[in-house]
Amino acid sequence: MSRILIVEDEVAIADLEKDYLELSGFEIENDGKSGLERALNEDFDLFILDLMLPEVDGFEICKQIREKKNTPILMVSAKKDDIDKIRGLGLGADDYVTKPFSPSELVARVKAHLARYERLIGSNTVENDIVEIRGIKIDKTARRVNGEERQFTTKEFDLLTFLAENPNHVFTKEELFRKIWDMESIGDIATVTVHIKKIREKIEMNTNKPQYIETIWGVGYRFKL
Ligand code: CA
Repeated sequence: MSRILIVEDEVAIADLEKDYLELSGFEIENDGKSGLERALNEDFDLFILDLMLPEVDGFEICKQIREKKNTPILMVSAKKDDIDKIRGLGLGADDYVTKPFSPSELVARVKAHLARYERLIGSNTVENDIVEIRGIKIDKTARRVNGEERQFTTKEFDLLTFLAENPNHVFTKEELFRKIWDMESIGDIATVTVHIKKIREKIEMNTNKPQYIETIWGVGYRFKL
């Protein structure tokens, strides 16, 4: 649920905004006094700032929020002239509404800005590193195979990923052991055989006729392309 902070000293207006936004499913905090402090230190999804406030005015609050956050800011003012001032100062407010405004217009604008901001954040998220080969999808970031939480041990996962990233290439057990386990590791090349068996049990339909990781007799293994 989106959380909105209203910084407004007129109780009647603050209550009106709060009522309408709560009806639309938002979580609302109203603070006409220590709004600036809360805006800077707490997590909100949007700010609604009144311009005329008894202590620090809306211009200053807007400026200080922008120095720290990209959260959408909607400014509310009783004077049309102030709108020009908001624009002129380039404070980084996303929108402005003049009093008196219709509550449904306020709600519509809040929704639009939240949606726009979510899209913006969404497009910045880092994509997972995925290896996809012959119907097998290995998500290296989430460490999942085919989207399932099927339990692959760290080494099984690394071994499968390494083979899938180098398809049609035969690796000897020694090479795989060196690559996945380091030289200092306790164990030997039989470890590789055991791990291949475990991987096959998780990805193959029939482990006797492996379709993905082939055994090249006397040499090693190959991920079939
Ligand atoms: Ca005011």
